Amino acid sequence: MGRGGSLDRFAVAKVIVVGAGVGGLACAIELAARGDTVEVFERHGQAGGKIRTQEVDGARINAGPTVLTLPWVFEELFASAGEDFRAAVPIERAEVVARHAWSDGTTLDLYDDAARSEEAIGSLFGAADAKAFREFQRDTKRMFDISDTYFLRDQRMTVGGIVRRFGGAGLATLASLESHRTMWQALVRRFRSPRLRQLFGRYATYVGSSPFEAPGTLNLITYAESQGVFRAEGGLRGVVTAMEALATKLGVRVHYGAHVESIVVKGGRARGVRTAEGEHAADAVTFNGDVSALGSGLLGPASKRAARSTPKNLRSLSAFTITLRGEARGPKLLHHNVFFGDDYPGEFRALMGEERVPDDPTVYVCAQDRADGPGEGGLERFLVVVNAPPTGDRPQRWGRAAKDAARSATETALARAGLSFRETARLETTPLEFEALSPGAGGSLYGPRSKGPRAVLARAAATTKIRGLYLAGGSVHPGAGVPMAAQSGRLAATKILADR
Ligand SMILES: Cc1cc2nc3c(=O)[nH]c(=O)nc-3n(C[C@H](O)[C@H](O)[C@H](O)COP(=O)(O)OP(=O)(O)OC[C@H]3O[C@@H](n4cnc5c(N)ncnc54)[C@H](O)[C@@H]3O)c2cc1C
Repeated sequence: MGRGGSLDRFAVAKVIVVGAGVGGLACAIELAARGDTVEVFERHGQAGGKIRTQEVDGARINAGPTVLTLPWVFEELFASAGEDFRAAVPIERAEVVARHAWSDGTTLDLYDDAARSEEAIGSLFGAADAKAFREFQRDTKRMFDISDTYFLRDQRMTVGGIVRRFGGAGLATLASLESHRTMWQALVRRFRSPRLRQLFGRYATYVGSSPFEAPGTLNLITYAESQGVFRAEGGLRGVVTAMEALATKLGVRVHYGAHVESIVVKGGRARGVRTAEGEHAADAVTFNGDVSALGSGLLGPASKRAARSTPKNLRSLSAFTITLRGEARGPKLLHHNVFFGDDYPGEFRALMGEERVPDDPTVYVCAQDRADGPGEGGLERFLVVVNAPPTGDRPQRWGRAAKDAARSATETALARAGLSFRETARLETTPLEFEALSPGAGGSLYGPRSKGPRAVLARAAATTKIRGLYLAGGSVHPGAGVPMAAQSGRLAATKILADR
């Protein structure tokens, strides 16, 4: 794999992975491909964690991630085990990245083709913003390339580590990442149109953060998306199914319905895990849940000191989601659709300051049966998502009134855009259920949120304060989102082998 260390086989050991999210599965695959004995303990009945489906009126609807980017992470992972990702999971590149709509009926589609996006921006917002977009693409590409070198493929580094490894030039390069201003400030300097600022600012929410406090560096997410948004056969569940099959082929044993109650620590070193069935010994353990679960003692007192819990005021966002089967009425939907609220600063004040779903939220609608066109109508599968505060560990915050308010705000926002559903059935998920799915972080979906200039260096590393205990998943370096969480699993495997 990358510069994080060699994965050459030089010793074989037994490793236990706690959690079968993409991070846990990626770690298991990398290790098993090099001959380690790997067992995965997953508290639920299936793999995938946040990548899950819900059955609504007989239809399987993807209720988690819908946007697949950076497929190279999976290509490299499968290649490391001698397999071809694209053969295992047919994916296709979307022609339209997403359709964006505002309350007055204005819509803007962004395309896979930057020149086409620039033209669309120019005809809606004028030549100055079209030029600003061109420059934004150029600059975010540069940021992405730097991040790729210093960050994505490597173990987490400290500022001191960067200076030691790359010298002063490394620091100067990092300083050019616009981390000294917020994403929003960076966008205001570039774009005249408040709508374009809003559109590109929304990428902060891909990692559960606010554009008003995340560093400008996060504008590189726009570039990551412009490198291709992919649809996988079977949605993102297709990726999980293929990873699970590969892990099994490599001899990984996955125990389902196996909640790990504690990490066994003996002589200052992780020696295995304990489930209801008893103790399971291992030479190393990787934890794939949210790092806060460890830090708050949910994996036992002995491993509490392994990592720090994310302070409540730094948790990333959770979500209120509706999966529904029905007929859509109103504006033409594509696969990915975003309906913006009118008061963007107010939206984040409500989410992060007042800890409630905003009255006028931005709503994402995934029409899962459509590709780049408007589809054929009839009964379809939809996922509707609004951001929500990570208060799932405070049940009083999610009583009936709060749930009704979240539903009503979502439906009002869609109705204002003329969109409604004649549905046959629906399921709703609040931060309470997200907390129950993976406890320890209040239903926060992306680990700590990105706040301030050093946010990108602030996540937990693959190693912990306890020898033999490692971390993988969206709450640790290099970050949240399906490819990043998978990459963290690969980095944990690299570290386990390097430490041996
Ligand atoms: C609604 C929604 C939309 C999203 N949209 C996107 C998107 O479009 N694109 C994108 O890239 N990302 C998106 N994400 C984020 C993405 O899903 C996550 O970043 C990623 O899947 C996290 O993977 P992970 O490895 O951290 O594991 P998780 O998915 O968090 O899984 C962790 C696993 O560990 C298990 N576990 C935890 N504790 C224990 C224990 N004690 N014992 C046994 N098992 C345990 C859990 O049951 C779980 O299965 C979205 C997330 C949600 C919820």
